Amino acid sequence: MNVGINMLNKIKYVRDLARQRAMLLFKLAAEAAERGEVEWSRRYAWLVLRLSQAVRYRLPKNVKRRICKMCRVVLVPGATARVRIRSRGRHVRITVTCLACGYIHRIEFKKPGRSCEKKLDKRIEEEEGRPKQS
Ligand SMILES: [Zn+2]
Repeated sequence: MNVGINMLNKIKYVRDLARQRAMLLFKLAAEAAERGEVEWSRRYAWLVLRLSQAVRYRLPKNVKRRICKMCRVVLVPGATARVRIRSRGRHVRITVTCLACGYIHRIEFKKPGRSCEKKLDKRIEEEEGRPKQS
């Protein structure tokens, strides 16, 4: 089937509308979680996920990581989530525990090594056009 330019524009338009609505719903979900209304938070978060699936829009990391994989409540530190940072050697691990269902989300990072820092310094020098004073 031939998809015309108008159709593409329409898809983009619908996707953008869905994105805006998803962000609004996510905000509502986070506020509900803060107030301790877990069921409302779940309902809003479910709509956010459903909306993004329907229009095939990829949720940004900061949104996706804040929805519990198990029970779909929005993870708000201090209200519905406990956040801990552990570092071991060159790895940093962030564990987010959902206080509604107890599921533990683990996010792992690799600490930037020396070579990485050097590269970063070099890039800063190039961008600023002058050597970095240290
Ligand atoms: Zn949960």
